[in-house]
Amino acid sequence: MATYCYAPQVGDPLSALDTPSMLVDLSQMESNIATLMDTLLPSGVLVRPHLKTTKCAALAARLAAVGATGACVAKLSEAEVLCAKGCDDLLITCVIVGAVKVQRLVELVRRHRRVRIVVDDAGAASAIDAALGRAGFLAGKGADGGGGRGGDDDAALLTLVDVDVGLHRTGVQPGAEARKLARHVAGLQYLRLIGVQGYEGHVQHVHGAEARSAMCRASMALLTRTADELRADGHAIDVVTAGGTGTAEVCAAVAGVTEVQPGSFLFMDTDYRNAIGEAKYKSSLTILSTVLSAQGPRTVTIDAGLKSLTTDSGLAETKIKGYMYGVLGDEHGSLTWEEEEEERLRLKVGDRVEMVPSHIDPTINLHDVYYAHRDGVVEEIWTVDARGKVQ
Ligand code: PLP
Ligand code: MN
Repeated sequence: MATYCYAPQVGDPLSALDTPSMLVDLSQMESNIATLMDTLLPSGVLVRPHLKTTKCAALAARLAAVGATGACVAKLSEAEVLCAKGCDDLLITCVIVGAVKVQRLVELVRRHRRVRIVVDDAGAASAIDAALGRAGFLAGKGADGGGGRGGDDDAALLTLVDVDVGLHRTGVQPGAEARKLARHVAGLQYLRLIGVQGYEGHVQHVHGAEARSAMCRASMALLTRTADELRADGHAIDVVTAGGTGTAEVCAAVAGVTEVQPGSFLFMDTDYRNAIGEAKYKSSLTILSTVLSAQGPRTVTIDAGLKSLTTDSGLAETKIKGYMYGVLGDEHGSLTWEEEEEERLRLKVGDRVEMVPSHIDPTINLHDVYYAHRDGVVEEIWTVDARGKVQ
């Protein structure tokens, strides 16, 4: 098989990179991480960052080194990849449904014991329990419960009840439904109920700090009240987990929330910037692209289209303000600018532009590699380990 000579290295200038390439401004990303940790850790809340954004073991390790407690992944297949790369203590935040996926979960838990799951359905929870039983797991209800070994050897799978706190995506309703499911999980042999998850995704991009904070506190009230009700029913609810980049600080200030799950704060995107501003976290990730063709007055075509930048949350923007981006298909995009700005913004074939994504998570999932640079020199290269892992 032919080998190609293109192999960017640490130490290369950005001019050595082909395009489109995903760039990370290391200093800005480090500043975003430090800001998050400095804001949240003093409150005593645990930070369990969501790796659905980065899908990257190297970045998970970096977060763990500065105070993160475990991490979240959205999907089982992300957990498979990241556990194999050394990540530990992962909470899979999507519910696990279907015989094939349950079997994969059993295999994952067999190899990596420190995995946590969420459930919102009694039948689905029972199916996981039965599969663990068939696979010969020791029951884990404590020293005198269910024949388990108890203590640190406890083999039960740590399980959280997923509660719908207003997003209406997954989760049982707070109150009676949550209590019923908790009772069911507590009665299973191989699952151990440890807490509740209530992700208020509908709040993350609400514009205006006050409105966002009020909505978030309403959601957290539903979640913490549910946790209290479950405790009153005799369950040991140690984990109350919620929050994203737009709300983590508000969640952390709510008594009873033990853990937050922000993901996008490392890199930000224009959607988050428009909602929460850039006072705390600033854009640190761009897609470097090249002007391929001049298409008339103040219009050029670049090599970044739908396969480089997602559009579900609006169109990407240029890092240097003043251009309008448009999609010209899978591989191409257009940049246009006003006549008055011709001198400042003029682009010609071969020029390079940095594009700021509108929605960071699905954009990263389009790329293989991050080129992390400081002052224009590549300092680290990270793979998007869980790219494409949507199962
Ligand atoms: N927790 C859950 C369950 C999520 O689905 C998400 C994002 O969708 C997050 C946390 C992280 O949110 P963000 O990337 O907005 O910080
Ligand atoms: Mn997202």
